[in-house]
Amino acid sequence: MSLHELDKQHLIHAEVHFKEFYQRGPTVITRAEGCTVYDASGKAYLDAQAGLVLVNIGYGRQELADIAAEQMRQLMYYHTYFHFSNDAAVRLAAKLAALAPEGLEKVFFTLGGAEAVESAAKLARLYQRAMGRPKGDKIICLDLAYHGNTMGALSATGLAKHKELFGPLVEGFIHIDAPDSYEGRFGADGPRYAALLEERILAEGPETVAAFLAEPILGVGGTIIPPDGYFPEVRRICDKYGILLLADEVMTGFGRAGSTWAMEQFGVVPDVICTAKGLTSGYLPLGGVIVAVRVIAAIAEAGLPFTHGFTYAGHPVACAVALKNIEIYEQERLAERSVAMGKRLMEGLNARQNPFIGEIRGRGLMVGIELVKDRTRRARFSGSTPIGFGVEAACFAEGVIIGVAPYRDTLAITPPLVITEAEIDRLVDVLDRAIRAEGERRM
Ligand code: PLP
Repeated sequence: MSLHELDKQHLIHAEVHFKEFYQRGPTVITRAEGCTVYDASGKAYLDAQAGLVLVNIGYGRQELADIAAEQMRQLMYYHTYFHFSNDAAVRLAAKLAALAPEGLEKVFFTLGGAEAVESAAKLARLYQRAMGRPKGDKIICLDLAYHGNTMGALSATGLAKHKELFGPLVEGFIHIDAPDSYEGRFGADGPRYAALLEERILAEGPETVAAFLAEPILGVGGTIIPPDGYFPEVRRICDKYGILLLADEVMTGFGRAGSTWAMEQFGVVPDVICTAKGLTSGYLPLGGVIVAVRVIAAIAEAGLPFTHGFTYAGHPVACAVALKNIEIYEQERLAERSVAMGKRLMEGLNARQNPFIGEIRGRGLMVGIELVKDRTRRARFSGSTPIGFGVEAACFAEGVIIGVAPYRDTLAITPPLVITEAEIDRLVDVLDRAIRAEGERRM
């Protein structure tokens, strides 16, 4: 039986409508190099989504395979429970502390992003208990936020349609408007969106709130970049009420948005950074939280136990791979490359004056494209399926993989940071053509 048939018979895909999937069938990827992935029939695709927005250093780097094999031969596993640890986890924790802003020096490892978010939320609740605020358990989150699919992370997620079939969800996660300057009710007024946080804290009772959780730039929700003044004001409000600021940098970290942490660009230091994805560029699964010393110190001082963990947390092979990945990220100055290539992509597309693009925005190689029927009025296309999926299919037919915000007509362009100028130029061509063709078809 072909891979194609075996897949349809046995593999349950993530985020899928089963009937549609059985009709279309899978795209089985069998090898990859640089920014190109190849399917089982040998067809090549320029992966302008970098897997699921994580292959920052590109596919097929031999050094990563070598380091994984070396680590596996020396020590393939030891856990980080109780007093135990392993050398690779220790070295990676120290490296992350060095990369994080001042004051964030404590690292707890997970297997991916959702677990990082859950760990951050649990730490925030524990911190409030340590500070003598036993009722401080609410986590305020953003509408349009995506934090993962486990029950806790899903509860933090703000995309209502994404969660509606899975309730009841975890208690204590509440949502306020995302600072969405394109479609939000306060336009580009950053401090006004931040004021919603204070209003909500007061409405709930400050003693009942543990933390505010936010992606510095909302990814899955539609590449939403908070306007100026938003995060500084958020930081001030969090400090005023003694609540923690948790930054979900799972997607934005490690150069994706043009700097190691996107929060740097907003001039704000959070209390916890959640990381995953670009931490290993996807060579192995790994995530973690980087936590302010004062948070752990308070929990330690209060004598509260940290009854939390994962069997594979701090897996030495994943940690060794992460260290090598970060070395490449630094040596090849990929954050700078992300800025330069993002600029080339956005300028190239802007120059095309595509009538169906309402806005192109981005930081580094995290670029969003709003699709509209009418640019001046910012009118969206009507119809039950977003036009983005049609554009995605047209790009795919031309051998280019792109991302689409699932609940909004916004494309998400996030190629590996090692993408070449020539690949960017091809991407601009294909995108412009696909958007025009699909827009005209839908008029
Ligand atoms: N947080 C953000 C901002 C993400 O973009 C994602 C995944 O896309 C997650 C969390 C969840 O990560 P994972 O799929 O590794 O659990």
